[in-house]
Amino acid sequence: MSDINQLRTIREEILHCQKCPLAKGRKNAVPGEGPSSVDVMFIGEGPGYHENQQGKPFVGQAGMFLDELLASADLKREEVFITNVVKCRPPDNRDPMPEELAACAHYLDEQIALLDPKVIVTLGRFSMAKFIENGKITQIHGKSHQVGKRLVVTMYHPAAALHQPALRPALIEDFSKLRHLLAKEEPIEPKVEAPAPETKPGKQEENPSLPEQLSLF
Ligand code: SF4
Repeated sequence: MSDINQLRTIREEILHCQKCPLAKGRKNAVPGEGPSSVDVMFIGEGPGYHENQQGKPFVGQAGMFLDELLASADLKREEVFITNVVKCRPPDNRDPMPEELAACAHYLDEQIALLDPKVIVTLGRFSMAKFIENGKITQIHGKSHQVGKRLVVTMYHPAAALHQPALRPALIEDFSKLRHLLAKEEPIEPKVEAPAPETKPGKQEENPSLPEQLSLF
């Protein structure tokens, strides 16, 4: 099966998944969206109200702010993949529970393995914790970390800046650094080695027909 078909299969599995209690309260699961081949992948926490309604990631106020931040990094939404660590909305936007994170983790692991991005940008504590053990977002926001063959850049979640406006300048500055990093103009400092391994399910042979624009929503 090609990578794009595997991504579509994962999407279908997520849409019908019943592996954790979050399935009961959802209107729509939110698998993620973006092309089937990307250099940069953004990983947030979980769907909120609007995402649950529409089945798309980052479509509410936080999504509008993310679009602004992407533009400041010279990125368009259509050229990055955006998803979350849990694909169904936690009730009342509470934090995902450990068992929910564990049940959902393999979907994200498979998406990362198939998309094979050079850079992963984590948005918020929960996606950061997937890659950076014992990291503190207040200390490492805006910094890059070598995790295996990928660069992981840890950022605040855009929604955090909506609730705490004091974080907004930090997010804007961190995305400005991301633009430099992606343009290879200058490194984001400091760059640290992080040991956290990624689960990498078997990646299929390269498909010369890729990248194909994949509608995952
Ligand atoms: S959050 Fe993940 S594991 Fe839980 S029901 Fe949704 S897709 Fe399945």
